[in-house]
Amino acid sequence: MVLRIGVVGGGQLARMMIPAAIELGIELRVLAESGGMSAALAATAVGDYTDVDTVLAFAREVDALTFDHEHVPQDVLRALEAEGIAVRPGADALRYAQDKLLMREKLSELGLPVPDWARVTEPADLDAFIAAHGGSAVVKTPRGGYDGKGVKVVRSAGEVAEWFAAAAEDGRDGALLVEELVDFRRELAQQVARRPSGELAVWPVVETVQVGGVCSEVIAPAPKSAGKLADVAEQIAVTIAEGLGVTGMLAVELFETSDDRLLVNELAMRPHNSGHWSMDGAVTGQFEQHLRAVLDLPLGSTAMPQPWAVMVNILGGPEEGGLDDRYASAMEEHPGVKVHNYGKAPRPGRKVGHLNASGDDLDAVVYEARAAAAHFQG
Ligand code: ADP
Repeated sequence: MVLRIGVVGGGQLARMMIPAAIELGIELRVLAESGGMSAALAATAVGDYTDVDTVLAFAREVDALTFDHEHVPQDVLRALEAEGIAVRPGADALRYAQDKLLMREKLSELGLPVPDWARVTEPADLDAFIAAHGGSAVVKTPRGGYDGKGVKVVRSAGEVAEWFAAAAEDGRDGALLVEELVDFRRELAQQVARRPSGELAVWPVVETVQVGGVCSEVIAPAPKSAGKLADVAEQIAVTIAEGLGVTGMLAVELFETSDDRLLVNELAMRPHNSGHWSMDGAVTGQFEQHLRAVLDLPLGSTAMPQPWAVMVNILGGPEEGGLDDRYASAMEEHPGVKVHNYGKAPRPGRKVGHLNASGDDLDAVVYEARAAAAHFQG
C-alpha cells in the first residue's frame, strides 16, 4: 500500500518534501493557496486553508496531514482531529508556534530559559517594562510575524501605537509581547524530529546568520559548540518537543548571550530554513525526516558525512532573468555546491533558493558557498 501525506501550503517547504517523498515511495499531495506555487510539481489541489470543509475534504484522502506553514486556524485543526485525521503536528502543539505569547508562557512553565518577557495591553505597561530593562525592548505581535516582520526594537510605547490599535481591533485580547533586548553573541538553531510514538532524532546545533531579520547563512555544526553548548541546546529542544507534544520537525531558534547562556527565541514546527543544510550535509535531511516522523516510521541517522556544512540563501535578484540563467556559471565554477531552486519569480529580498556546500575545512566551505551564491546576486 502506498502511504499518502497531505501538505497544507504550497511554498518551498512543501516543494522540498517532494523529492524525499519520491525516494521513500510516499505519495505527496499539496493543498496550495493558488496555482503555480513552489510545490506545483506535486499532485496539487488549490483551496483556502482557513475553510474547514476544504481542508477536511483534502485531509480525508491522506494517511497523515502536515504543513508548509503554521497558519491553519485552530478551529480547522480541531475539526480534523475530531474526525480522527492524523494531524502532525497536532492542534495542541501547533498553537505554541502560532502565538508567541502562548509560547513564552509555556516555555516559562517548563522552566526553559527565555528572555525576560511580559504581556502588555497598555502603552503604560510597555513604557514601564522598557524603563525596567535599560531603556529599550523588543515588541512582537503575537501572531502572523515572519522574517522579522512584526518585531520591533523600541525605546517608547509611542513607536508601536499602531500595533496596539491593531491588536485591540483584531477581536482577541489586544495584547502584545514585549521582551528584553538580548545582548547576544550569535544566533543558533537546534533541529529535532519526533515521532508520535516518541522516538527522537537530533542534528548538531547550528549557527544562523541574519541580515535585516532574514536568515542569510547557516553553519553546521555551530563553530565552537562541541561539548556543553551542544548538550544544552539539544536538551532544550528535546524538552520542548516532548513538553509540547510536537510531531514531525521542530526548529528551536536560540540566542547565545555574551555571558554564555542559551535563551529560546522562536519555535517552528515544520522543516525550517535553519535546517536546509541537512539536505546535503547529513545522512538524513530534515524533509525526509519530517515525512518519516509524520508517518511514525523509524527515523534516520543525522550523522554528518563531512565535518562542516554551510548553507547560503539566495535572495531576490532582478525581476528579469530568473535564477535559472545563473546556474551554468555557478555549476561550472563550483561543481561541489548543491543548488536548490524554489521555482519562484525573483523579487528583491525574496528567498528564491539556497545552496549547500560541505567539506573538512570550514573557511574553505564558507568561501565556496558564498562564492557560488554570488553568481545569483545582483
Ligand atoms: P520572526 O517570527 O519574524 O522570525 P523573531 O522573533 O525570530 O521573529 O525575531 C526576528 C529577529 O529579531 C531574531 O532573529 C533576532 O535577530 C531579533 N530578535 C528577536 N527577539 C529579540 C530579542 N528579545 N532581543 C534581541 N534581538 C531579538
